[in-house]
Amino acid sequence: MELIFEKSRPGRRGVTLPAKDVPAACEVDGRYRRGRDAELPCVSEPGVVRHFTGLSKMNFGIDSHFYPLGSCTMKYNPKFTERIAGLEEFTSLHPLGPQLVRGAMLTQGALEVISNLGSVLCEITGMESFTTQPMAGAHGELTGVMLIAAYHRHKGNRKKYVLIPDSGHGTNPASAAIAGYKVRTIRSDTSGVMDLGEFKRSLDEDAAAVMLTCPNTLGVFNPHIKEIADLTHKAGALMYYDGANLNAILGKARPGDLGFDVVHLNLHKTFATPHGGGGPGAGPVGVKKDLIPFLPVPRVIRRTDGMFALDFEEPLSIGYISPFYGNFAVILKAYAYVLLLGRKGLIEVSESAVLNANYLKCRLRKYYDIPYDKDCLHEFVLSASRQSEKGVHATDIAKGLIDKGIHPPTVYFPLIVKEAMMIEPTETESKETLDRFVEVMIELAALAEKDPGVFKEFPRTTPVCRPDEVKAARDMDVCSLSG
Ligand SMILES: *Cc1c(COP(=O)(O)O)cnc(C)c1O
Repeated sequence: MELIFEKSRPGRRGVTLPAKDVPAACEVDGRYRRGRDAELPCVSEPGVVRHFTGLSKMNFGIDSHFYPLGSCTMKYNPKFTERIAGLEEFTSLHPLGPQLVRGAMLTQGALEVISNLGSVLCEITGMESFTTQPMAGAHGELTGVMLIAAYHRHKGNRKKYVLIPDSGHGTNPASAAIAGYKVRTIRSDTSGVMDLGEFKRSLDEDAAAVMLTCPNTLGVFNPHIKEIADLTHKAGALMYYDGANLNAILGKARPGDLGFDVVHLNLHKTFATPHGGGGPGAGPVGVKKDLIPFLPVPRVIRRTDGMFALDFEEPLSIGYISPFYGNFAVILKAYAYVLLLGRKGLIEVSESAVLNANYLKCRLRKYYDIPYDKDCLHEFVLSASRQSEKGVHATDIAKGLIDKGIHPPTVYFPLIVKEAMMIEPTETESKETLDRFVEVMIELAALAEKDPGVFKEFPRTTPVCRPDEVKAARDMDVCSLSG
């Protein structure tokens, strides 16, 4: 496809700028003016529309395709929340408005949204206070572990490491390490959860925290969670909840009630903000009472006169985690989403998400190996090991799915499953869509038996087919990768 610059012809124009609605502040000094026109593409309005519509069609997105990308919760994002986030009363706020620093007078609505979302998240998770500042799940993890470190430092505890099961997301050990801890990896038992015996042997007074995803990345809920929390607390360590999988237990169980002390949520996963391609997201962090003094500043508080304000005076705070208050539009969308669905709707989210995942798992179990085959929560992990004996690997099946108009599941994660394909249908898909996915997966399993060699030609329908992945990571020129 031609670049928009290659489509440019002098004199064509696709945009008219509105008339100035403010007086020009000053003339730009000649020294700073460019000597020749900016090299902007000259393209007509239909030319621009076709160019970008064409580009968008080369992509996979939840608005166009089924997207069962495990662990990422690619649910349909209601357009209602986009409309709310686009309200001019919000979009025209300026974060450097002086009122923000003093009385917070002109931004009451925005501060109320932040404050109310925090309250709602406390109710959903069983935590006692939230910061909405972190801008992604991983950023939330880092914030959470920094809070834990600040807590231990304040209490004079000398702690050295964080315990993380081997099914954990790679960001877990990374966050723990950046926050200054060593990581002890605990292997999973045959049922797919953290091995309780090995956990007990690894836990001692040097442990700062245990980081768990629950249900974990295999879609399995840990039945020993209360015992783990009790032992952890007895050792003077804290329980960290990676909330990326909250979609599985929304309205059903609260991490706070299960014994967790710190939680991050991925608003862009559970609370329906479009994501992928690197953002924007939000990873708010909730804590129990003992950790509140360490939360980042500024904190949104409600004054005795009922006004919302920003509080910078927290001597034990870990300080700034992000500029201003995080990705405000994502916070706003999450709040709109919660209000749109209500208590009943949020409970239905997890019920349907879990039902859909179990339905797919039951229908596919004859055709693919399922290493941890018991009732799952919102996602499950298949293995393409049977197909790989014929030379058809998880990645080949993923490429085959693309040609059938389906976004591949997460492949090769979690690391503890060979040829892993992690499937998360989410609650927003119809039975027809799920059935179509099953049919395609069965078709590909049959093809792997009959004609395994053909998989190396997939995908055939995309602008870029099988890039050399090592080269792709080093050389970002997409055009050189085709073929
Ligand atoms: C997505 C995910 C993360 C990281 O969240 P980001 O928002 O992508 O930074 C952490 N843990 C699990 C289990 C995840 O699925």
